Amino acid sequence: MPRESKAAGANRPLKPSNKAARPAKGARTRPDSRSSERVTSILETLAKTYPNAVCALRHRNAFELTIATILSAQTTDVGVNKVTPELFRMYSTPRKLAEAPLPELERIIRTTGFYRAKAKNIQGAARVLQESFGGKVPQTIEELMKLPGVARKTANVVLGSWYGIAAGIVVDTHVGRLSRRLDLTRESDPVKVERDLEKVIPMDHWIQLSHELIHHGRQICIARKPRCAECPLEPLCNAADKTWSSH
Ligand code: SF4
Repeated sequence: MPRESKAAGANRPLKPSNKAARPAKGARTRPDSRSSERVTSILETLAKTYPNAVCALRHRNAFELTIATILSAQTTDVGVNKVTPELFRMYSTPRKLAEAPLPELERIIRTTGFYRAKAKNIQGAARVLQESFGGKVPQTIEELMKLPGVARKTANVVLGSWYGIAAGIVVDTHVGRLSRRLDLTRESDPVKVERDLEKVIPMDHWIQLSHELIHHGRQICIARKPRCAECPLEPLCNAADKTWSSH
């Protein structure tokens, strides 16, 4: 677990992530950290900063997004995007993927890590799609979670990014870390983080907020050494591991 996740999840002041880092003043949780006024400011700032944020996994349909998201576990979207063109060129439908030779799937997705388990999962997911859902990706969390390799996060990605259904908030490592740094939650468990976020984030922001936080987490609020001096959220942020603070 990343260092800051563990500490921030317990809502304790963090030690600086390195010698150059210095903790912000007033790093403790503030009573108004989840106020609608502050949340609105965060949402507006993120929307202005990332007006076109979308899912970084390349896909042309719900099936491809489902498979790509299963493959994205424990690896980067860039890494997944390197293998999916060949995968979907050879196996473009649930039926074709369900009937693919497993060693061939393992070869194609090998670089994404945990490739044996992932090959079984994507083939299992294709089989369930074919046998239980007529080859179509379902539109509810409960149905999606019947697919091997699909947990709540993946279901939320597919529902939000493809169907535009705000069934929940995608909580990946970036969304979890940023939610803690921004003091919107004290939880480290993704499902609990999602619950906390859903209480304060208006539903019409659920889908876009995930995209924006993921972009921000990749570009600015990175895990080990956040670039706070470049961060548009800095005036609103009291994270204990800030590397620069204006207040
Ligand atoms: S100020 Fe720093 S810790 Fe806070 S959100 Fe921005 S980059 Fe992250």
